[in-house]
Amino acid sequence: MKTIRTATDLALNGAPPAFAEPLHVGRPNIGDRAALLAQFERILDARWLTNNGPLVQEFEHRIARHLGVKHCVAMCNGTIALEIAIRALGLHGEVIVPSWTFIATAHALYWQGITPVFADIDPSTHNLDPNAVRSMITPRTTGIIGVHLWGRAAPIEELQAIADKHGLQLMFDAAHAFGSTYKGRTIGQFGRCEVLSFHATKSFNTMEGGAIVTNDDELAEATRLMRNFGFSGYDNVIHPGTNGKMIEVCAAAGLANLEALGATQSGNRRTHAAYKQALGNITGVTVLDYDATESNSHHYVVAEVDERCTVTRDQIVAALHAENVLARKYFWPGCHGMKPYRELFPHAGRVLPNTELAAERVLVLPAGPSISSDEIEQIASTIRVMCQWGLGGF
Ligand SMILES: *Cc1c(COP(=O)(O)O)cnc(C)c1O
Repeated sequence: MKTIRTATDLALNGAPPAFAEPLHVGRPNIGDRAALLAQFERILDARWLTNNGPLVQEFEHRIARHLGVKHCVAMCNGTIALEIAIRALGLHGEVIVPSWTFIATAHALYWQGITPVFADIDPSTHNLDPNAVRSMITPRTTGIIGVHLWGRAAPIEELQAIADKHGLQLMFDAAHAFGSTYKGRTIGQFGRCEVLSFHATKSFNTMEGGAIVTNDDELAEATRLMRNFGFSGYDNVIHPGTNGKMIEVCAAAGLANLEALGATQSGNRRTHAAYKQALGNITGVTVLDYDATESNSHHYVVAEVDERCTVTRDQIVAALHAENVLARKYFWPGCHGMKPYRELFPHAGRVLPNTELAAERVLVLPAGPSISSDEIEQIASTIRVMCQWGLGGF
């Protein structure tokens, strides 16, 4: 029988982990090195490092064209892009968001003095449940931020109908959804605007970076002003603002990585399919599928460990960590369970049963184009043996 070790076992007997180097979730994708260095040369030649430089302008045009959207306003990161979008939409009071998302979605609101109100998810998609959204609307609600979790589109039409009916603003956190589609249309065109993240760990990265994409001319103009301290021309400040500018180095990385996009995505799909196959026959472990009729980066390999499994999700995480496989339990315990929001809403969990279930079950595995099929098989066999033998396998 194959032996599964915990971190404690390893510490006691000093046995080496299965992998000498740690395998991370969100290992950065790096495109062609020569292409990247050539872009860096352009920056040095032009001696233009930031402040809406030529590479940022080119990057914005390329992204807008790629997504089929009128405006791309590039930013230093996705969180600042969310904050600027939230200000530009004039959100205040309460805004409805999922709790099952990366903490930045909630923080971007709270940092702007707005109360994030957490609505529950549909357990089959991990995206906002429209009925849950409806139940959280109060007279103070001014907007909804939908999140396209794991790159799968939120229920856009239902959310838009709710927003229209109640006079609310709708925008999307599309940090996971670069290149995803909804009913065949590319994410980026929906709501008043959508916000992308190009953080190093995302499927497509600019090292750090983000953008607001929209078809709304006025909104695009307002966010451009806010991104650059409200400057219109050299000396004329016409609006309050902040520093949300993307630097040229980040645009350079984006331009190089855009060239590598096809290879990254086919690698991601291969990895997802290999995990699907390798974890396919384990009772109590289900790898989340993506809709075959829509585009998705397949960047996230998300498994759910349910009560049919003989071991818990946390026991699997501990065993994988002992083998240097740094699987993650994103976004445990849900935003509502994190200290700032737990103190604000101590009973939020009562109306978030599906979020709490996902938080107990979800396991995100190291993926991406750079992981090998042998590594995937080794990871899967660790999980398989644990699930077959339980903790008795130790
Ligand atoms: C990564 C991420 C963000 C934040 O983006 P940064 O570029 O890291 O600031 C926001 N929302 C979600 C859902 C994310 O995954």
